[in-house]
Amino acid sequence: MPNENKNIIAIDGPAGAGKGTLTKKLCEHYKFAGLDTGSLYRAITLCLIKMGTDMDKLDEQFATDVAERLSDTHEILTYAKNPEIRSQLTNKYVASVAKIPELRKIMRKYQTKFAINPPSLEDGTPAKGAIIEGRDIGTVICPDAPVKFFMTANAETRASRRLKQYLDQGETANYQEVLESIIARDEADRTRETSPMKQADDAIVIDTSINDKEQTFEMAKKIIKEKLNLE
Ligand code: C5P
Repeated sequence: MPNENKNIIAIDGPAGAGKGTLTKKLCEHYKFAGLDTGSLYRAITLCLIKMGTDMDKLDEQFATDVAERLSDTHEILTYAKNPEIRSQLTNKYVASVAKIPELRKIMRKYQTKFAINPPSLEDGTPAKGAIIEGRDIGTVICPDAPVKFFMTANAETRASRRLKQYLDQGETANYQEVLESIIARDEADRTRETSPMKQADDAIVIDTSINDKEQTFEMAKKIIKEKLNLE
């Protein structure tokens, strides 16, 4: 493909590490299109829950068929915009949906397409590149991305951020439960067989327990200038 996009930034890391915040700031700054791949897995999970699926005895083939239908019809984007994808119930089940190998194959196609041919921005102008954030972007989805970040923060900091998010959403939540659920999801994501959460060998690590949003943004811009020669 002659016009394949080469300006690809891969951002990986565990829940609550600040991937979304950095992606948003970088997309605005560089006029890149951003894809939050976690929202895709969350969208499939939410759809399954709404269909009344028994999530504790999830049928992998059924979940894969639903994922294929949602991605073929672009309905996945409608679900991905539903705030319920961030509820505690969706959080509880998303890792068990995301670990299904055949379902990940379908999502891989979707993400690769976005990376090499990012959609236009909201104002209709063509995107100057793509930022894809998730768990396996630098390792599996875009292993050749010229810029890779792995964002991390200690579990306590990440749990406090998530707790605030739940309370802001009007949900009841307590810190200890949120902390335990974050640790359990990290463990599930890190130890699954297919595409586990993993830092790529060439990823730059940013710890957001010690760097605030602005410091993180400045660090990322410095690397992007070095690697992509963009201001
Ligand atoms: O990033 P976020 O916390 O929204 O991701 C939700 C879940 O989706 C993760 O815990 C993980 O199970 C799954 N996920 C994944 N691969 C990605 C992105 C997210 O397995 N690239």
